[in-house]
Amino acid sequence: MSDVSLEDIVSLCKRRGFIYQGSDVYGGLAGTWDYGPLGVQLKRNIMNLWWKTFVDDRDDMYGVDAAILMNQKVWQASGHVDTFSDPLVKCKKCTATLRADKIVDNTCPNCGEVNNFTNPEQFNMMFKTVVGPKFYSIEPKKDEYVALTNVPFKNKSDDTPATTFPVNDPDKELSAVSLHDKGSISYLRPETAQGIFTNFKNVVDSFSPDLPFGIAQQGKAFRNEISPRDFVFRSREFEQMEIEYFVDPETWEPLFEKWVKDIEAFLAELGLPKDKIHNLEVEENDRAHYSKRTIDVEFDFPHGRDELLGLAYRTDFDLENIERVSGKKQRFIPKEPGKQPFIPHVIEPSFGVERAIIAVLSSAYTEDEVNGEKRVYLKFPTHLAPVRFAVSPLLKNKPELVEKARSVYADLKKQYGNVMWDDNGNIGKRYRRQDEIGTPQCIVIDFQTLEDNTVTVRDRDTTEQHRVAIAAIGKTD
Ligand code: ATP
Repeated sequence: MSDVSLEDIVSLCKRRGFIYQGSDVYGGLAGTWDYGPLGVQLKRNIMNLWWKTFVDDRDDMYGVDAAILMNQKVWQASGHVDTFSDPLVKCKKCTATLRADKIVDNTCPNCGEVNNFTNPEQFNMMFKTVVGPKFYSIEPKKDEYVALTNVPFKNKSDDTPATTFPVNDPDKELSAVSLHDKGSISYLRPETAQGIFTNFKNVVDSFSPDLPFGIAQQGKAFRNEISPRDFVFRSREFEQMEIEYFVDPETWEPLFEKWVKDIEAFLAELGLPKDKIHNLEVEENDRAHYSKRTIDVEFDFPHGRDELLGLAYRTDFDLENIERVSGKKQRFIPKEPGKQPFIPHVIEPSFGVERAIIAVLSSAYTEDEVNGEKRVYLKFPTHLAPVRFAVSPLLKNKPELVEKARSVYADLKKQYGNVMWDDNGNIGKRYRRQDEIGTPQCIVIDFQTLEDNTVTVRDRDTTEQHRVAIAAIGKTD
């Protein structure tokens, strides 16, 4: 278990501007979260590190950014329309809606009632929507038609209205006993992976890569989770970073092992302690039917051990489905003479950004004592810290110090971007504030700076201060 409580993380995130409840001002919307100035920077740092590690630094990887809205056939072919569901029950006592497979000891987590639930029903987690104007085929009663459209019936004698009409008012839409135009139904994507698979042929045609090669994508995913919980851990709108790594089926095993190692190295770069990461081999019975091997990489989160990311060997399941449903060949044509075209198999490392964020925050959260006082600080790896440097003049009422500090600040900001000006309160208070948001170094401009162009650099972790030439700031961490 992690040493920090989830409540501590949630409260620090809200107080210091990392993450806020979505739509907070209107009472919130369950399962949605907004990133504040520090949260968005932390998130970007994590996503950029992932992109650099798995795309920019490799020569077997291609990036894509597919549309969130996709043709409904994507989700029919992938099996999501039929099977992307969780079992839902209701507590008969307090009526809480719960995910049946997450109930512990048959006890309602809301009211404590034991063994008193409705029968499980499968609840599809995709958010359904309609693309374009919403046309409804209707067979309404005369009154209903008039209420919906405000248009009188043309033929009063047989009560037959026009068979389709647009509805723009969502409240009216709800009352329409009618069907969407089937062609325009779409879904907010529940994973980014299908946007990769559907572009497999495009990338092959444009770049002629050799196997093995991967296609990577980062972006939003939406799941109408039955019970969003544990801060951003299980949200209804979240961000994924996924790779489909296409391989010759004969070579999948060593490549899978390589991915286990590559993931391990990336998690170390995130600053996650090794002893909190656990690779869970998913048993055959619990794996998707097409998967020959799956590892759930679990982490000791503040709320307990849970899935951080997944690594799955998905065989040729997805491309095979696309070929069958679209009628378009998804074959790789080997360059070796005599070798027949085949559908490549795939290894899928699938990361969730929000879960990485809680893992990073809880690993960084540190308490110690400085001069007999308790101190809380975020010990982010330098490359992830939302604020790289805080710059301040020793005294804010000395114009010559302020001017010099402003010029140091401007230069660093140009170079790094994420540099903060902080001249509020006394120096001790500034340090504590910066510690709490994980700023690795605070730069203070004092009277000596005016003489010799050196500054005080104060280190977050050791709290030690050193004199450093302005030109050498950031050169030694
Ligand atoms: P779980 O079993 O926890 O519901 P999953 O196995 O359904 O997760 P995948 O479909 O494998 O998850 O999705 C890949 C990754 O996306 C997960 O490992 C996780 O990091 C992230 N993820 C999935 N669902 C959510 C969610 N509701 N909120 C935040 N991240 C999520």
